[in-house]
Amino acid sequence: MSTLEIRNLHVSVETDGEGTREILRGVDLTVRKGETHAIMGPNGSGKSTLSYSIAGHPKYTVTEGSITLDGEDVLAMSVDARARAGIFLAMQYPVEIPGVSVSNFLRSSVTAVRGEAPKLRTWVKEVKTSMAALEMDPAFAERNVNEGFSGGEKKRHEILQMALLKPKIAVLDETDSGLDVDALRIVSAGIESVRAKGETGILLITHYTRILRYIRPEFVHVMAAGRIVDEGGPELAAVLEESGYDRYVKGGGAAT
Ligand code: ADP
Ligand code: MG
Ligand code: MG
Repeated sequence: MSTLEIRNLHVSVETDGEGTREILRGVDLTVRKGETHAIMGPNGSGKSTLSYSIAGHPKYTVTEGSITLDGEDVLAMSVDARARAGIFLAMQYPVEIPGVSVSNFLRSSVTAVRGEAPKLRTWVKEVKTSMAALEMDPAFAERNVNEGFSGGEKKRHEILQMALLKPKIAVLDETDSGLDVDALRIVSAGIESVRAKGETGILLITHYTRILRYIRPEFVHVMAAGRIVDEGGPELAAVLEESGYDRYVKGGGAAT
């Protein structure tokens, strides 16, 4: 059983010039193995801050509350230790790693997380299969990570990492944004195939409802102004598709 538990999470960020600002103001969320949760909300509501806080980005300071994975204190872990514990973050804006090929990057990530290098023959096969499933050209493996990648290539590369790392908890921050219809279908299929194994709890962060036509989460949470303000099943996504976020932000001093 893998359970990520977030309790009363308050997170502040050190801004450039304007001091400390509280972004998350008491978030509660539980994600269990095999479950898919969508977190939706307007821009600026704190979705990326939540994902960075789970992964351990040094810029975001937890001032109150807790995050645990199977009872272990995640907040006490370094970024690396969180990855080894089975937490994976696909960032909204993946970074370039000049001079490091996709192939080497994936192998070192998997080695670091598993604690030993994967056997070469099975590894090569595993990468090939996963890349084919994401309709990625094998030559892609020799390119440098995110250097000159299109938006769609960056997102496929994130999903490729997830497929190979087999995390306990995967946080996917706007993996759908900027994708055309074909890329969205391929990326969604990649997420679905990880989901189908039932070994990963997925936190799908998204601004738009369109990815939820391909991936139906069991749970939908709405975030506004640093809090979860509404929760429901997939039917809530349908409501949001109709009516947007207006009723959550009106007068609430929410999005900036
Ligand atoms: P979302 O992902 O929902 O769009 P974010 O978590 O990116 O929201 O941002 C939430 C709020 O926190 C926004 O008002 C944003 O400007 C602010 N914020 C996030 N990160 C920083 C930062 N590093 N410095 C200053 N403000 C930040
Ligand atoms: Mg944003
Ligand atoms: Mg964001």
